[in-house]
Amino acid sequence: MRVLFAASEAEPFASTGGLADVAGSLPSALCSKGHDVRVVIPLYSQINQEYRNSMQFICSFSVKLGWRYQYCGIFSAVYKNVTFYFIDNKYYFERQRIYGEYDDAERFAFFSKAILELMAHIDFFPDILHTNDWQTALAGIYLKQKYHVRPEYAKIKLVQTIHNIEYQGKYGFELFSDLFELDPPDYEIVEFNGDINLLKGSIVCSDRITTVSPRYADEIKLPEYSYSLDPILNRFYFKLCGILNGIDQNYYDPNSGQDIFAAYSANNTFGKLLNKKSFQFDFSLPERTEIPLIAVISRLVQPKGIDLIIYVIDELLKRDIQFVLLGSGNHAYEEYFHSLEYRHRDKVRCIIGYNKKLSKKIYAASDIFLMPSVSEPCGLSQMIAARYGSIPIVHETGGLFNSIKSYNKFTGEGNGFSFYACNAHDMKHVINEALDIFIYRKDEWKQLMYNAMTSDFSWNKSSEAYIELYHEIM
Ligand code: ADP
Repeated sequence: MRVLFAASEAEPFASTGGLADVAGSLPSALCSKGHDVRVVIPLYSQINQEYRNSMQFICSFSVKLGWRYQYCGIFSAVYKNVTFYFIDNKYYFERQRIYGEYDDAERFAFFSKAILELMAHIDFFPDILHTNDWQTALAGIYLKQKYHVRPEYAKIKLVQTIHNIEYQGKYGFELFSDLFELDPPDYEIVEFNGDINLLKGSIVCSDRITTVSPRYADEIKLPEYSYSLDPILNRFYFKLCGILNGIDQNYYDPNSGQDIFAAYSANNTFGKLLNKKSFQFDFSLPERTEIPLIAVISRLVQPKGIDLIIYVIDELLKRDIQFVLLGSGNHAYEEYFHSLEYRHRDKVRCIIGYNKKLSKKIYAASDIFLMPSVSEPCGLSQMIAARYGSIPIVHETGGLFNSIKSYNKFTGEGNGFSFYACNAHDMKHVINEALDIFIYRKDEWKQLMYNAMTSDFSWNKSSEAYIELYHEIM
């Protein structure tokens, strides 16, 4: 099977979130199963020189966007056995940041068009074009509405993945023909509530729509979660399915000892105590391994459920616990956590920033990982935490629901704790229950750690699900 995976970011080249993790690991999982899967991303200025050195120039051509004719260079590099293509245009991709520019519509319209032109220039016409989020949605619309009449493109099937439905690519109709080069028959495809909505257009055009967890696939059919796209998803419910993301289990492996103080495994967790002690020492917290250490590693934004934590944290801190937070985002939240640390110097550390290596140290040092997201398409942090034996406490939503099963004291099953209603006191109740097990029922906690650390969060099962889905439409 030949697949072209089109994404606006991919690990390890350029990353702002979960999409990059998926684009960096799913294709290599598919390749290892014998398929020819290639990835295409923009050549951002943020991509390190180290990676640029391994790139090869393939060709260049010009891409037509309305009245514009823009240079498009193609570079390629092989990473983890996957061929990556990089779309080069300095005007569009040499910017301070990856998204959030005034002309994102034009930048990603160019990228989308370049993806289709690329196929002809490298003579790679895949069986499947797999687009991701709104930034590549237009590539799918072009494929089905424009390029399909050409024999080489006619058989290509389209899969669109929604990583987060909040971002839809909404623009005014002034861009309809001038920039997007769409024609009157395309109006009904892309129009939604009076605007152009690129994600909606791709949902209409695609052969299958996937999202990043089965639960989220159900949730986005409801107005509470859909950011108003629920009528469209209900209309095309037969195309929609949810496949849980995996994590790179080699990168996140406590047994490798990489980036943490001491290695440990599910069968021998002694090293975890050393990680906790070293962390307490480094951050000047009392060095007591018997104290439960609760961690939060998150973007500090409303959907991550930060308000629930704020609501009960002072009450929780009356118990003999330690609390560490690593995150950045909303300024008001950052200020709040600064003040929390100030008020509880002996128990709390709040590190404002983004630090991948430190995050691994915290996963390894902590006993409990708190992730009360209001909504969560998939979530990777809870899986990483479980892998490091930091027991996740999650709100039952999206991928949190699909990956974390609440501990059952009668059967010993489960790899974390969860609460049903998005309510701070329900969360506090579950945290207290977890703390009691940690303090008073040590054997049960050991079992829980074993269950969490041996949970299968690899790409193996999920990549099989994608292969099955591709086969269904071919
Ligand atoms: P989202 O993509 O919505 O931010 P996920 O749980 O899917 O949430 O992925 C978050 C990823 O980013 C995880 O790998 C997590 O460890 C990492 N992360 C989040 N905040 C930070 C931070 N401040 N420093 C380092 N890593 C972080």
